[in-house]
Amino acid sequence: MIYLDHNATTPPLPEVIEAVTDCLRDGWGNPSSKHGFGQRAKSALAAARAEVAALAGAQPAEVVFTSGATEANNQVLAGALSRPGVPPRVLLSAVEHAGFLKAAQRMRDFGVEVELLPVDGRGVLRLDALRAALERPAALLSVMAANNETGVLQPVVEVAAAARAAGVPLHVDATQQAGRLPLDFAGWGVDLMSMSAHKFGGPKGCGALVARKGLSWPALLPGQQERGRRGGTENMPGIAGFAVAARHARAAMQAEALRQGALRDALEDALRETLTGLTVFGEGAPRLPNTLFIAIAGQSADRLLGRLERERILAASGAACSSGGSEPSHVLAAMGVPPALAREAIRLSLGRDTDGEHLARVVHVLRSLQSETAVAAA
Ligand code: PMP
Repeated sequence: MIYLDHNATTPPLPEVIEAVTDCLRDGWGNPSSKHGFGQRAKSALAAARAEVAALAGAQPAEVVFTSGATEANNQVLAGALSRPGVPPRVLLSAVEHAGFLKAAQRMRDFGVEVELLPVDGRGVLRLDALRAALERPAALLSVMAANNETGVLQPVVEVAAAARAAGVPLHVDATQQAGRLPLDFAGWGVDLMSMSAHKFGGPKGCGALVARKGLSWPALLPGQQERGRRGGTENMPGIAGFAVAARHARAAMQAEALRQGALRDALEDALRETLTGLTVFGEGAPRLPNTLFIAIAGQSADRLLGRLERERILAASGAACSSGGSEPSHVLAAMGVPPALAREAIRLSLGRDTDGEHLARVVHVLRSLQSETAVAAA
């Protein structure tokens, strides 16, 4: 199998599987227990927190373990609106993760004004629109670091400066950037950041909310754990795997970003040369090195993905959560892509196991498909 869907999820690293299993077998103490078994788990938790903080560019005390980025995002939203005296208004980029947008839109039922900030044709947030929106008070601004469909990177530093000037707390969903490109929570000057372990070789169901020291942000799940910021017995096997994945991602990041970026660029060039009617979404914008989101004129995403899978190549039509549905991607819609073209969009997302041979195979299959279609039409 050639797996090109790493933005949906990644295969767990062997070292992660080992850490998770070791924890289940030997390290199953509850970190809140006072006895030796609990204290051992508590030390493991502290060590894991330091690893995740290092990946985030944050301090260990700023890391709150959650069940993933979805929970972290929901904690951000719910917390923003339950802080005393805040205006019932939140600002999100129009290209945030579908689940997060859904959670925000539900807030409308409770009288919250939810404003979606536009992006340009490449998928980059329009800073003029952001500055205009920040002229009125808001409880939260949320802009993702990297988009899950296009891989497009947002100008986080500029966004943070604008948010700070307006006095609006800034949340960055860094789920797709974590482990692929450096994160600099402290340097960026953001208030809150979401991450998820399974996007870079860690286990599913484990993530983190990074919350700036000194920021008081209500818990979504009240309890005594995580210093009152997230109740519930810690998912120690998940956290152990998360930490190992974070350590490996940090060690390999620079080399992998270069390697995958070169492979992705070569794939893009080869497809441009061999196919007619190729669209590359997010073209001209800074993008994650592993992501290529394309359409081939006249080929529906369903047909392309079906053929690729028959050739044992796994890819996706945009966000995993929206594939299968017939609704075209909200990300492409926000970029002004017509629905008919959006229905042709397929995402190829590379990972550590991807090599040049895999991509040569993709080029071959897509080229064959296009020439068969041309013959059939002749
Ligand atoms: N945000 C983004 C940008 C994502 O890509 C994803 C995963 N598709 C999530 C949030 C949700 O993460 P999780 O699977 O950890 O809930």
